[in-house]
Amino acid sequence: MSEMVESSNFIEAEINKDIENHVYANGRVLTRFPPEPNGYLHVGHVKSICLNFGIAMKYNGLTNIRFDDTNPSKENVEYVNAILDNVKWLGFKWEEPVHYASDYFPQLYEFACKLIRMGLAYVDDQTSEEIKETRGDLENPGVESPWRNRSIEENLKLFEEMKNGKYPDGAKVLRAKIDMASPNIVMRDPVLYRILRATHHRTGDTWCIYPLYDFAHPLSDALEGITHSICTVEFEERRPLYNWCLQAFAGKEKPRQIEFARLNVTTMITSKRKLRRMVEEHVVSGWDDPRLATIAGLKRRGYTPESLRHFCELIGISKANSTVDIGMLEYCIREDLKDKAPRIMTVVDPIKVVLTNYPEDKIEYITLENNPSDPTIGTRQVPFGKNLFIEREDFMENPIKKFFRMTPGKEVRLKGAYIIKCDDVIKNKQGEILEIHCTCDMDTRSGTPGAERKVKGTLHWVAEKTAVEVECRLYDYLIPKEDEEDNRDFMEKINKNSLQIMHGKAEPAIKEYAVGSRFQFLRKGYFILDKDSRENYLVANRIVGLRDTWAKEKQKVQQGK
Ligand code: ATP
Ligand code: MG
Repeated sequence: MSEMVESSNFIEAEINKDIENHVYANGRVLTRFPPEPNGYLHVGHVKSICLNFGIAMKYNGLTNIRFDDTNPSKENVEYVNAILDNVKWLGFKWEEPVHYASDYFPQLYEFACKLIRMGLAYVDDQTSEEIKETRGDLENPGVESPWRNRSIEENLKLFEEMKNGKYPDGAKVLRAKIDMASPNIVMRDPVLYRILRATHHRTGDTWCIYPLYDFAHPLSDALEGITHSICTVEFEERRPLYNWCLQAFAGKEKPRQIEFARLNVTTMITSKRKLRRMVEEHVVSGWDDPRLATIAGLKRRGYTPESLRHFCELIGISKANSTVDIGMLEYCIREDLKDKAPRIMTVVDPIKVVLTNYPEDKIEYITLENNPSDPTIGTRQVPFGKNLFIEREDFMENPIKKFFRMTPGKEVRLKGAYIIKCDDVIKNKQGEILEIHCTCDMDTRSGTPGAERKVKGTLHWVAEKTAVEVECRLYDYLIPKEDEEDNRDFMEKINKNSLQIMHGKAEPAIKEYAVGSRFQFLRKGYFILDKDSRENYLVANRIVGLRDTWAKEKQKVQQGK
């Protein structure tokens, strides 16, 4: 039993109206998520999933998953399993069992026969090219098929023969008999069934005719008792056809189609077809490449289900398609991780520092907080020694103005440890820096009275003796942010330098974490341990850098700047 809730978008307003008007028994709400198992889901589907499951939860209703598996030549079980995993990972529970449009092939066949008996469908012998050519366009009405006025008996017989395999692929189709002059081209006798000899991943070779999506979808919704069939706006012009098909359904409560805007995100490709092309042409390493907008890619990149759900809440629901800035998604993951991700020191691009006055074999343990914003996460001991690594970019031999990191003759503090001073730079014959020699002011250790002395720069560091090798994978956008729509194929726009591999060094605490753990590498961003990690050689993906440009932009907008 559902009750009206305060609506936060136009879909909920519609549902409230239906509850008020007693359209569905007890005001029940049953939504569905209907993926076609022909590829991996992407961030756009996340929005659809959050919307369908979110609305049902809000109204105490339920959500079905139904695979729209009406196109056997492109679909397979690998995708089915990946999609179910994705939905579960996002934190949603569907009503068991999982449904498949193919479960309804017998009923759909009967619905088609019923339409024929009602004089609303006919078998057409024209080829698909002929059907296309006679459809007309916005200015011109279509041309009626010469087979349009076959008798009901003949249509029933031919349709059954189609089912029984009497005709080759493409020889005949079943069409709706609507109106070849309709201003809505969708309504010009659309095809409902076609002959296709393809082995289906669930029904095998039982069928050689398959219903089209436009026919299968509304009737599958009706059979399941779906109340609100929420889909993207490009289906708006198909809504009359959705309702037309429901004539075959005798039930009292018919589903309603409601459309919402697709989600597009800057820099991200959200089309299954394009995603497949990138995978097949090896532009990326696979469907779960951390640069992809697939849910599998977002997960491997380090996005959390919480951050993705928060993102969908923030963008809201509208009817007008628009593109959301990727910065908003990045804001959501930073928000989620800032309090819960432990800190680790990792030097992503190491350069060696030798403390010339520090005892050779001495190892000290420095206490650092695991997360300054949450002291309950505790502290850890970080080994410190004579030989260390610092970040290459934290040293400049000839510093530019306002460079407060390490330069010859100047002092910096090593995070949580000592103030050191750069005395000497050791280079090879080619002039490349091999080591930086420094002296350590032994009276300045953090936490001791001598630590009072202030210097401008604080650097993160890793002791050489206990350092753990970490391959750091730094990602850039696949499609540059400043990219504008032009006529170039998207493959030409792909950023060839979107993956940068660095051979970093981390403090040993990192070894205590399992694959999939997320942390903040101090000053370097949020990272997740990747499944490519091996014993003594870890791999970490950078989820996102630390700088939050989107939040700043938002602030500016709010302040009216
Ligand atoms: P693609 O265009 O990427 O192939 P699709 O719409 O063909 O996507 P389906 O598997 O049919 O993929 O989609 C399942 C559901 O997800 C549909 O209800 C569809 O409307 C919705 N959906 C797909 N892409 C988006 C998107 N970018 N934003 C919001 N919802 C989407
Ligand atoms: Mg689709």
